[in-house]
Amino acid sequence: MGARRRRGPTRKNRAEIELMRAAGRIVALALKRVAAAAAPGVSTKQLDRIAEETIRGEGAEPCFMGQRLGNLVYPATICASINDAVVHGIPSDEVVLHEGDIVGVDVGARLDGYHGDSAITVMIGEVAPEVRRLVEVTQASLMAGIRAARSGNVVGDISRAVQEYVEAQGFSVVLDLVGHGIGREMWEPPNVPNFIRPSHPDHSVALLPGMALAIEPMINAGGSAVRTDRDGWTVRTVDGLPSAHFEHSIAITKGEPIILTQCEEDA
Ligand code: MG
Ligand code: MG
Repeated sequence: MGARRRRGPTRKNRAEIELMRAAGRIVALALKRVAAAAAPGVSTKQLDRIAEETIRGEGAEPCFMGQRLGNLVYPATICASINDAVVHGIPSDEVVLHEGDIVGVDVGARLDGYHGDSAITVMIGEVAPEVRRLVEVTQASLMAGIRAARSGNVVGDISRAVQEYVEAQGFSVVLDLVGHGIGREMWEPPNVPNFIRPSHPDHSVALLPGMALAIEPMINAGGSAVRTDRDGWTVRTVDGLPSAHFEHSIAITKGEPIILTQCEEDA
């Protein structure tokens, strides 16, 4: 959201990583409760209330609310993006889930000055096999990206891992949106693309212990092209085919990356 002056990625010390893990747990808890509540007949505004109550109940703050995009101000705690909506769908009482839908839910929270950012795509009841496969491939592509998020690699290794996995499965990567660094700011350098572009300046950024990244593949069943709705936020596929989104905030270590946005019992 918006251009910023270029600076290097920040590296967090052990105590800061623990603070980020605490923020991340709250995001994970909110997503868990939203996933449990998502069912036919439930509105995306109801899901938004569940997430907001969870985040505030844990002493944290939602951090998408109030974000600016040009003259627009984001009005909700979550983004809820159904079927052909890729990301940034605004929750509404009028938007109700139906059997067979998929809904991408993106949650960000701040606790003690540090941020957590994570997204899942929830299947509502029985979903068509090809749509289910899209959701499963997108989730697996996130894990492929996380496995590449190791000290000694560069950002482009994450990008390549996601893109190669997804394209081998016959789906396409959204090229207009990227993951990002995270920490004291919700969006920090570097950008973390889910695709390789020969000239992309962030591909060569070295991954070092203490860096925290939000890796977030946005994957389309059809073509990669997207457009923005008249509401100025909702990004949709141009071909109207479904799209899925998964995201974790992670920390680079000397060994395995740490997934920050998970509940204790899932760790
Ligand atoms: Mg997010
Ligand atoms: Mg993000």
